[in-house]
Amino acid sequence: MIIKLKYRPEKKDFDAFVAGLEKEGLAVHEIDGERFTVLGLTGDTSKLDADRIRALDFVSGVKRIQEPYKEASRSFHPSDTVIDISGKGIGAGNFRVIAGPCSVESEEQLCGIAKAVKASGADFLRGGAFKPRTSPYSFQGLRKEGLRILLEAKKLTGLPVVTEAMDISQLELFDDIDVIQVGARNMQNFELLKELGKLRKPILLKRGLSSTLQELLMSAEYIMAGGNDRIILCERGIRTFETTTKNTLGLASVPLLKKMTHLPVIVDPSHATGNAALVKPMSMAATAAGADGLMIEVHNDPANALCDGPQALDPAAFDDTLKAVKQILPFAYRD
Ligand code: PEP
Ligand code: MN
Repeated sequence: MIIKLKYRPEKKDFDAFVAGLEKEGLAVHEIDGERFTVLGLTGDTSKLDADRIRALDFVSGVKRIQEPYKEASRSFHPSDTVIDISGKGIGAGNFRVIAGPCSVESEEQLCGIAKAVKASGADFLRGGAFKPRTSPYSFQGLRKEGLRILLEAKKLTGLPVVTEAMDISQLELFDDIDVIQVGARNMQNFELLKELGKLRKPILLKRGLSSTLQELLMSAEYIMAGGNDRIILCERGIRTFETTTKNTLGLASVPLLKKMTHLPVIVDPSHATGNAALVKPMSMAATAAGADGLMIEVHNDPANALCDGPQALDPAAFDDTLKAVKQILPFAYRD
């Protein structure tokens, strides 16, 4: 970290400032220029609050050299992390597909979709039991009953299940769920993240609607700081001024994130576009860009889905999409 001083404070204030930094285990290197004094800090600055230093009267600017996230950062963990979910690894070239409906609607619906996506080659089954809907009058999910149905579909197909928890109070119901999803709207629910840090279960962390990649990694850091390092990041598009797609999918985030972090990165082309016709091309593009997997919404009857029908693939379209993805996979970008 580099700290540029506005002026040289009184000796006792300066010494106290330096002593405070040294107490944090940092070495302070002073460089006196003709017009400015600059302090170079070496050591682990990830836990240092740059804003508190910036707020000091005699400081004119602070520049971070080390990322404020350490556990999630590539520089501290150079090799790719592979997360094992019931014997299936994801990351470091292990490409996995999560598929299923936006919401669990009934046992018949979910089991039918589970069988179909498994036959096409999906590795995990998704389905929302607790749904974060914009309107309180929209279908909110089957909640506890939805979780029961997910576990029935798992029993039937052997596919591990991924589903969203919206609140700490729901976590006690998630013991048998294989992967807990943190939705875009909850990416910065820090109390939830801290609680997930206490678990030893894989977490699928989706990018917030208006979050930067650094903010996504800071949220991963919250979970990792608690001791849970089994995190899969998910790019699902962000809000922009564009109105023709539900969100804007900037696929540059895939190779970028993979430079910034060792964690697996997957892409959700369904929420990123909101349009079933765009899911196949964006799945192919995400695969080519080096994603470690995809999360795709699949519904047996998209026109009558209780949630996100316009972006859902039917099982035949999903099968066709996965065939195209598998053709691209050997040529995918790997740094
Ligand atoms: C979902 O995966 O069903 C979902 C609600 O996604 P997001 O949180 O990315 O909007
Ligand atoms: Mn959805």
